[in-house]
Amino acid sequence: MMEDKIIVLNQLKREDLFDTFYWKKQVGKRFVLQISKGLVAEASWFAHYKEDGNLQDFTIELSSMSKCPINCTFCGATSLDSTPKYLSAEQIFSQANFVLQDYLKKCNNKDEVLKKLFISFYGIGETSLIADTILKSIELIKNKYPTSHFNIATMGAKPNEFEKFASIPDLITLQLAIYHPLDSEAKKIFVGHKNYSIDTILLNLNKFMKKNTLARIRINYVLLDKFNDDTETLELLIKKLKNNQLDLSRIAIKLSYLNNTVTSIENKLERPANEKYDALKKFLEKKEINCYLFGTKENIFISCGQLISNCVDK
Ligand code: SF4
Repeated sequence: MMEDKIIVLNQLKREDLFDTFYWKKQVGKRFVLQISKGLVAEASWFAHYKEDGNLQDFTIELSSMSKCPINCTFCGATSLDSTPKYLSAEQIFSQANFVLQDYLKKCNNKDEVLKKLFISFYGIGETSLIADTILKSIELIKNKYPTSHFNIATMGAKPNEFEKFASIPDLITLQLAIYHPLDSEAKKIFVGHKNYSIDTILLNLNKFMKKNTLARIRINYVLLDKFNDDTETLELLIKKLKNNQLDLSRIAIKLSYLNNTVTSIENKLERPANEKYDALKKFLEKKEINCYLFGTKENIFISCGQLISNCVDK
């Protein structure tokens, strides 16, 4: 296979403390890469360490698009020029290879890293719009790195494609972005997706969970000040999950911190106060809903879309 010549346009490396289920420290490096002429994407590696200092996992985060048509009002990719640009399976593979080799060339625990290798499609791009490309790129990655495990993120632009994701080998997580349980409100965030329907999404999530009984489900709920950061909205979300007979023991709600991008600032979107996160987590726990906080209290400038929006011509 001919690989594209990748050029690094920007990069940022840093170390941060987190408090997740499985790991407490992250050492990460994010790149803005020119994959081919006119096609720019963000990709990262993250080494996650447990409390005892041992490696929990080594995660590669990939983009599947350079510009995504969903145009979420806080996404860094939304500030780029107006034509959606999708990567091919080969370009996604090249990106994975590039980022992994960047780490491996300086590491002395290569075997351990490869054993704990997670490939996350959590970067720029709505995966359900190009499900076949994602599946093909996974095949290419698995051929070269057979120990890889996979995480897929989607906001459900094409919910009937979830079924395809159910057959991904070694799929660890399906992460579904839900920012509001009411379609009319959710569309204020997903401005490029006019047909958003949470009921259709949850119906297809149910089918996915029946077909793939092992993957864990994460609902990525980015808390936005005065938009979705109240108990009534979360109560409605829980009601919708229950109405769709979803197995809640496999689902966790991830209350995520918003990281500012050029677009979120332009749209005046803000995080709620830190106390809100703790209060809403307690609220969910009281309802016996699995949940956790994700992110850092300070803006760490290494989250999806933060680097690319400052570095690419608009
Ligand atoms: S947040 Fe995800 S779905 Fe939304 S515009 Fe960005 S890449 Fe697309």
